[in-house]
Amino acid sequence: MDIRLTGLAGCRVCTRLCAYLDKLQAKRGWSRSDYVNGPVPGFGDFRARVGLVGLAPGAHGANRTGRPFTGDGAGDFMYPLLYQVGFASQPEAIAADDGLQLNDLYITNAVKCAPPENKPDATEFAACRSFLKAEFDSMPQLKVIILLGQGAFTSYLRMLKADRVIDRLTDFPFAHGAVYRPRCGPVLVASYHTSRYNVQTGRMTAPLFLALLAQVRKLLDEESGAEKTVEKPLSLN
Ligand code: SF4
Repeated sequence: MDIRLTGLAGCRVCTRLCAYLDKLQAKRGWSRSDYVNGPVPGFGDFRARVGLVGLAPGAHGANRTGRPFTGDGAGDFMYPLLYQVGFASQPEAIAADDGLQLNDLYITNAVKCAPPENKPDATEFAACRSFLKAEFDSMPQLKVIILLGQGAFTSYLRMLKADRVIDRLTDFPFAHGAVYRPRCGPVLVASYHTSRYNVQTGRMTAPLFLALLAQVRKLLDEESGAEKTVEKPLSLN
């Protein structure tokens, strides 16, 4: 675990989530000792230019494997597409020691402990926001943040509002593919979640997510171009 997330391991601030995880039954073929049943840290490189925020670890996915989106339907959908566009070193994400590495990407969740029915409550989002903030404050090259689903999107906006980077959440309506530039900091890209439910119902599809990743690549190019434009006159002096 990265030193910048001191305090995450062993955090038990959210009593409802701890009570749930203390009693969670392992799924068939696994035992409770195979599970994390606690905070699941983010995964990737703190020097990455792209961050991706999901909702929370899946009870029998990331909460079992200890790595976001690993061993669950959302990851089974997402990682092959990340691999296809060069953000991941391999399409499979089955265990924390499977050799997967991320390229220019850091993946985390708005809430670090698995909630019942995949539904964190407002107090849990708020309690975990300091960890999300610590992660992204530790990424000096961060340019674009992909926010998967309304929950992660709204939680991130609340963090920006608390930091006085934005004034009103209503200025930032959630829509798949919406791009927002707050007063400062990374560009935000909203996306439908890659959950199994969204994939099965057709709300999220591979072409839709690939198009969003292409949009992120374009934004990275634009942001790099903007930096060069700013740097040029300085180098002439
Ligand atoms: S969800 Fe976050 S704040 Fe709540 S117990 Fe887990 S790590 Fe701590």
